[in-house]
Amino acid sequence: MSIQENVNINENTQLLFDRAAEFLKISDEGKRLLKSPYRELTVQMPIRMDNGELKVFTGYRIQHNGSRGPYKGGVRFHPAVDIDEIRALAALMTWKTAIINIPFGGAKGGVTCDPKKLSITELEKVAKSYMSKIDLVIGPYRDIPAPDMNTNAQVMAWMMSEYGKKHGHTLAIVTGKPVPLGGSLGREEATGRGCVYIVKEACKDYGIDLQNSVCVIQGFGNVGSNAAKFMVEEGSKVIAVSDVRGGIYNSKGLDIAALIKYRDETGSISGFPDSEKMSNEELLELPCDILIPAALEGVIYYDNASKINAKIIVEAANAPTTIKADEVLESRNIPVIPDIIANSGGVIVSYFEWVQNLQQFTWDLDEINFKLKKRITKGYRDVYNYAKENNLSLRTASFAFAIERVIEVVKLRGWG
Ligand code: NAD
Repeated sequence: MSIQENVNINENTQLLFDRAAEFLKISDEGKRLLKSPYRELTVQMPIRMDNGELKVFTGYRIQHNGSRGPYKGGVRFHPAVDIDEIRALAALMTWKTAIINIPFGGAKGGVTCDPKKLSITELEKVAKSYMSKIDLVIGPYRDIPAPDMNTNAQVMAWMMSEYGKKHGHTLAIVTGKPVPLGGSLGREEATGRGCVYIVKEACKDYGIDLQNSVCVIQGFGNVGSNAAKFMVEEGSKVIAVSDVRGGIYNSKGLDIAALIKYRDETGSISGFPDSEKMSNEELLELPCDILIPAALEGVIYYDNASKINAKIIVEAANAPTTIKADEVLESRNIPVIPDIIANSGGVIVSYFEWVQNLQQFTWDLDEINFKLKKRITKGYRDVYNYAKENNLSLRTASFAFAIERVIEVVKLRGWG
């Protein structure tokens, strides 16, 4: 039977906060301060399209909490972007940066647009217009954007270039840049790589033989395809993946290297040889050891949570599981490794990129991957131990652990 479910990502995130704040016995004034964003900017972006028409897009930059350092968070280009989504994602960045203990606060940005319908010149105009409209609230010691859904190193290059026109050449203004333009080695694959470091730890804790495991991944963009690549390197069999057009399945395991090539050539995974078609819904219900949602939020909800057939879920996407689904999964003893630790590899290497930019120095890939593994594994262990010690779900533990870290510095600063 279906039940009424709240799938507003911002309300979900606030409820998760409330649960953890209740456990921590945070005062009402503390809750008010930590729930509300520090600053919300909405901008108008008029763009002259290739056909001569003037379209007005809307962009957002929301800075949630900056008490631990400059704001940090990606920029998403997607038709579903709205202020509530960006609010939630900004708050998640505050908790994420706190768990992995990097000296940043949390922010997020976005533009409501469908990049699939934009030409390359229109996309460049959107990226540059967005930067020129938000540059008054960002800076290398103030707020540092990065890629998220439908934005990549090229988009970051356009944004950095636009910022430089007014403020002078500033490498550290965005992370996730192309390597020849000050980007860090390892940044592009960092979220997928970090996610698989987490999978390795979680497999030890939950008795899964990673080398002989079966894995299903929703989403085959930056995060999903890199996670798939590293899962295969660990010996796992990736039997199904999907993108916005639907899923593909092969019970013997998909050839991920060939699939990445196929996607790069055709723009999608659909029609990949040696695979059967399946819907995104069916894919989530496949029997497997490890399920990695790596696309959108809210894809695991009350109605399908009871049909999930995985031994563990590792959230590479932000907020893929609703609160009601969490409860169902908990009652079925399916552990969920929360987004704010599982997908933190991207912001960890973004931090490394920022540090390298400020130092005017570069690190080699081995050093970056070593530091990434160390930091993300520690974050996972901290949350896992906190959950055990306090008899909490990993979700509530991840929020509570992060909130404790943030409130400590808020108090030290004198609340303002
Ligand atoms: P991306 O744009 O590179 O890829 C997104 C993928 O999801 C694509 O394969 C797309 O086709 C697919 N998709 C879109 N709509 C879908 C739908 N309705 N059903 C199924 N698949 C769909 O984006 P990304 O950077 O890989 O981000 C994916 C998720 O990971 C997002 O939740 C993002 O916030 C999160 N994340 C990304 C990073 C990063 O470094 N890029 C870091 C942390 C978290």
